[in-house]
Amino acid sequence: MEKEIARLQELIDQYDNIVFFGGAGVSTESGIPDFRSQDGLYNQKYDYPPETILSHTFFMRHPDEFYKFYQDKMLCDTAKPNAAHLKLAELEQAGKLKAVITQNIDNLHQMAGSKNVLELHGSVYRNYCMKCGRFHDFHYMKNAKGVPRCECGGIIKPDVVLYEEGLDNDTINASVRAIANAQVLIIGGTSLAVYPAAGLIDYFRGDHLVVINKSSTPRDGYADLLIKEPIGKVFSQIIVR
Ligand code: ZN
Repeated sequence: MEKEIARLQELIDQYDNIVFFGGAGVSTESGIPDFRSQDGLYNQKYDYPPETILSHTFFMRHPDEFYKFYQDKMLCDTAKPNAAHLKLAELEQAGKLKAVITQNIDNLHQMAGSKNVLELHGSVYRNYCMKCGRFHDFHYMKNAKGVPRCECGGIIKPDVVLYEEGLDNDTINASVRAIANAQVLIIGGTSLAVYPAAGLIDYFRGDHLVVINKSSTPRDGYADLLIKEPIGKVFSQIIVR
């Protein structure tokens, strides 16, 4: 792997318009379970399959059941940014990295200090009353008993893209722009299985595509640098200069 790390270091040294596109694998090293990996959320026992619980229809019909699962599995407040989050924030500060595009909803990139974070699937840190639109933070949701309600009585909905819901247009447009303008695109910690998010990387027309993922992805063949290692382990060896 030394050769691959050295090549990644070279690219990072050479370019100053890098974009990172990441998924669940970026957060697993912080202790957040991967939805789709073998020991991930999707293989855990619950009354309904997680795909059903995390759907718009289910949320509207059974907010109580939705929030039982959500409180339990989605509102993790013990995770800390790992080497990947921290290094990406450093790269942005150094003027090398222009955007982090993430499928994660856990706020770990912002906690690490990243500024331009495009959250394709929303964030558990933003929540809005469905009646009056008022904002409620993570801790309000964490401390709520049962279905979280606003002071006005309305039910609060997390700003997380549920199954059956579309992605936010402004976030998609900003992501497309960032990818289309990037010289280097680093795809990390994602198996590129979830659409439409995964389709965004088709807009890349820059110089180098890097894929860092433990398992194979459909884009491995297009990558001019492929590193099959955990992303935190890879980034911990990168020096920002
Ligand atoms: Zn309200």
